[in-house]
Amino acid sequence: MMEKNYDVIIVGGGLLGCATAYQLAKRKAGNILLLDGNEIASQASSRAACLLTRARTKPALMELVQETYDCISEMEELLGEPLGLQQCGSITVASSEASLKGLEALEEAATRFGIPNERIGRERTKELLPWMDVEAVDVALYMPTDAFIDSALLCSGYARAAARMGVTLRPNCRVKEIMAGNGKVCGVRLADGEAVFAPVVVNAAGAWANLLMRPLHVGLPFTPVRSHFWITAIDSSRFPAGHPFTVIPDARAFTRSDVGALIIGLRESCCQPFDPSALTDKLEDFDFNRKAEWTVLDECAPLLKPYLHDIDDLPIAHYIAGPSCYVPDAMFIVGPVASYDGLFAVAGCCGGGVAAGGGMGRLAAELILGDSPFVDPALFAPDRFGAVDPFSADFQRRCADARSNKKGG
Ligand SMILES: Cc1cc2nc3c(=O)[nH]c(=O)nc-3n(C[C@H](O)[C@H](O)[C@H](O)COP(=O)(O)OP(=O)(O)OC[C@H]3O[C@@H](n4cnc5c(N)ncnc54)[C@H](O)[C@@H]3O)c2cc1C
Repeated sequence: MMEKNYDVIIVGGGLLGCATAYQLAKRKAGNILLLDGNEIASQASSRAACLLTRARTKPALMELVQETYDCISEMEELLGEPLGLQQCGSITVASSEASLKGLEALEEAATRFGIPNERIGRERTKELLPWMDVEAVDVALYMPTDAFIDSALLCSGYARAAARMGVTLRPNCRVKEIMAGNGKVCGVRLADGEAVFAPVVVNAAGAWANLLMRPLHVGLPFTPVRSHFWITAIDSSRFPAGHPFTVIPDARAFTRSDVGALIIGLRESCCQPFDPSALTDKLEDFDFNRKAEWTVLDECAPLLKPYLHDIDDLPIAHYIAGPSCYVPDAMFIVGPVASYDGLFAVAGCCGGGVAAGGGMGRLAAELILGDSPFVDPALFAPDRFGAVDPFSADFQRRCADARSNKKGG
């Protein structure tokens, strides 16, 4: 039998909900309940490419990512076990005027923030990336402290660390509605009809967050957009484990090593949004339009060919797709929902919830507790676009364009 009263209820046990639970518990925010309709860490947070890209042109985003790295060290200590961070480094490649400008901006931002970076020549690039045809590379920027981490393991790390500090975790417990009246929230009603009460409710329900907001007439400014990557068959001599991940803006691509295989992420010129009301409760039951994966390859593979000449013939072993929640300005959504006291949102990950989740959770915790926030919260305010309708096709297109136009990793 579950307790009936809490100080904070968090809906969603993905990276954003679990990181928020961890950050609240660390700040001794009282009696906290985290609910998920599925297993914890089982949805978008188990489908990521897992890049923890440190350098960003927006300083606040670098702060958020740095916080995630700090959380990983803290949680490893608290849990007494490694979370499997792989410090492989990253290489950003430029082969055009436009991408060189982007690389220079990144280089400047990284240097200002103290992130180690160096330009490397073709020979060194080839040493680090044996699979790459480096003749296509004009400039390469190497950041040796970038890393990747298994996103499901990171998510369960936040959850287990939060539980260790007293948070109650309830997987397989679906929330039917967020209860509110007289301009404030008072708790949630579960799918079986049971009500649980708290003066603070955090909506961290990922791609589904707007379905819970709809009855409250609140629209969070994001839509789920298909993100995907392909994994080649294993070829350990060509794709050695732990080699740097790459960001190749001229090919709208990134790559990452995966135990002797290569992960290849490609971004189509016109990304695919989904109406949130079309989503199934579990992503396993959702059709990400599998036939289109090959159409995307037809469009994108030629762009990668100068760097990977035999991409047309490479055996592909796996295809992974999932929803990334994009916001028109490609920033996140963290903070109070103005129309209801006690209602907070942590959503709109813009394909960066693995890297920035620890920081998003920290900002959410600070705002919930009234502490002074470590980054400017106005950048992430849920209402910064005014009233939006996330169920309209026009708004969904605006959000998808934020992914289509993305340049970084
Ligand atoms: C293909 C792909 C590649 C990616 N690569 C990267 C990367 O390299 N680096 C990076 O930083 N990010 C990456 N991301 C993004 C990252 O995966 C997301 O930012 C992150 O997983 C979002 O976490 P979340 O908690 O918002 O969502 P989720 O993990 O989906 O969690 C939301 C949870 O809410 C629960 N829920 C929903 N509705 C209810 C309800 N009514 N009641 C109870 N529970 C509910 C769901 O069951 C779910 O568990 C990638 C994403 C994809 C799809």
